[in-house]
Amino acid sequence: MPRKPGSRPRQGPVFKVSSCDCKDCVAACLNSPGWFMPGGVKALANHLNLDVPTLFKKFLAVGVTAMPDGSLRHGVMPHKMRDGKKPGGVWTLAELAQPGRCVFFDRGKCTIYPVRPYECARMIHDGKSMAVKLRRHIVKAWTPAALKPYAELTGQRLYGAPPRKRGR
Ligand code: SF4
Repeated sequence: MPRKPGSRPRQGPVFKVSSCDCKDCVAACLNSPGWFMPGGVKALANHLNLDVPTLFKKFLAVGVTAMPDGSLRHGVMPHKMRDGKKPGGVWTLAELAQPGRCVFFDRGKCTIYPVRPYECARMIHDGKSMAVKLRRHIVKAWTPAALKPYAELTGQRLYGAPPRKRGR
């Protein structure tokens, strides 16, 4: 769609979709699954023929990340297999710092590859700062409205990003 006269182009980094099963990607699958964009959860639910609440309770979790000012932001990710923790919960920063295999990683492969999380599909191989930018980009999409269904499902207060201002 053409931009309106005088409007500014959308700003922000562009993260290209990558496709590989290199050791960096496998390490992420074994230690720290990538986060979904809000619309990605619905796409996965459709792919697995589940409704979103059932998908969340069986296979997903709420993750958290710390912002530069120390505030916390939540988002949705695949469940991590560790310590008997069940899917459908909210992870703390300390829990997320511990490695755990993604619930969708089986026999060396991603079992939801066509609808894998946004962050997995744009795996950053060359620099921690770009990986941080990618996570912050995803976090911006997890507004309070996007998190509301998961706050209801978990019964916990979740912290979303403030809505983007128009023109940004
Ligand atoms: S969703 Fe797929 S690509 Fe992403 S961490 Fe899990 S197994 Fe790996």
